[in-house]
Amino acid sequence: MSRKNSFYKVDLDIDVKQQFIKVEMELYYPILQNKTDTIEFMLHRDLKVKELNGDEIRSYTFNTISNQMLPEAGNLKVNLKGTMKKGELIKIRLLYEGQLGVLQPYGDNRLTEDWIEMGLYFPWFPLNFQQVSSHNIIYDIKVKIDEGYKVFGMGEVIKKNDHWTMVKYTPTNDIIIMASRDIKVESIEDEDFILNIYYDKNSEVINKYGLWILSKYKEWFGTTKEKNMSVVFAKGGAYARKGFVVLEKYKLESNDYNEIDYFTNMLGHEFAHLWWSNAPADTWESWIDEAFAEYSALRVLREKFGEEEFKKAIKIRENRSNNTPPIKNLDMSYEKRKVVIYDKGSLLLYKLEEELGEENFLKLLKEINNKRVSNTEEFLDILTKLFEEDITKKFERLLRDF
Ligand SMILES: [Zn+2]
Repeated sequence: MSRKNSFYKVDLDIDVKQQFIKVEMELYYPILQNKTDTIEFMLHRDLKVKELNGDEIRSYTFNTISNQMLPEAGNLKVNLKGTMKKGELIKIRLLYEGQLGVLQPYGDNRLTEDWIEMGLYFPWFPLNFQQVSSHNIIYDIKVKIDEGYKVFGMGEVIKKNDHWTMVKYTPTNDIIIMASRDIKVESIEDEDFILNIYYDKNSEVINKYGLWILSKYKEWFGTTKEKNMSVVFAKGGAYARKGFVVLEKYKLESNDYNEIDYFTNMLGHEFAHLWWSNAPADTWESWIDEAFAEYSALRVLREKFGEEEFKKAIKIRENRSNNTPPIKNLDMSYEKRKVVIYDKGSLLLYKLEEELGEENFLKLLKEINNKRVSNTEEFLDILTKLFEEDITKKFERLLRDF
């Protein structure tokens, strides 16, 4: 097994009626830094750790005081017997269980009778931010759940006699398991990808716009590296992982549903993450993913609904980002960070496209996708390689001052 990946081998029992999960796990965890003597994970606060052991492990503590980044997580600290070196692999055996539920009405993840969605926002498995930003998670999960539920999620899911298996051996940064009684799936194949769409109703919007957006993105950015892609209309919030997009279903059904809004902010933005999802999510460098996703959405808006709608959307973003700090080195606890990263970021890319012209701009996007650019430095390098140094300097200034 690769010494770079965190491998989770899991037996997961979900009791939907009781909102109870029981987990037995072997976690093969690669040490990420020299002189490591403790490893910290986040894990859902309502879970009780029954056992945690391994040859290298001395003790552990589980502090259920809310984690700042993930409010539903507590802090699980594993103390090692000695210090370990980068690249060494340890095996942690874990047994934990607990009753979980849903905290916010539109929370991203939940465990309820009509919708089960468990991922890192609802941290049912131990993980830390180093794993999330290094995209090194692989897994093999056996799921047992009440009769009548269909299990699906990020990875290949197979129904066996009395359980389901979900495996993923291409590294990612989350383990997302979903289940529902009334989910339908439609698959669309193309020479480059297989797209699975999970929905209960209202899939028309995908037929009307979704595939068109995907074909535009393919034309503009080139193929994604992920062959298998899924889109889920979920009961909670929207988010995206590599090859896995979750959309907000309730917005489709709400009274103030606005088609152009849903097209741009939901389909356009989240689908773009099938291409743009290589940067760390918890630093200012996340503009690399978010600004590109946002500007991709604005570009499809322009194609479909015309220049006037596009200009309107630009204006809204300009107004929102008035009097906000620049992107570079942005403090991620800043309350309007989303405005800076998404709105201001997409405005910078708009300026760049104006400067380069469409043909050159798309050449740049293809190269960024091709090289899986994950930080600003790599981005600026490509910019310099493709065009003149002046363009890079100008863009650097915008990142720093605009
Ligand atoms: Zn995004």
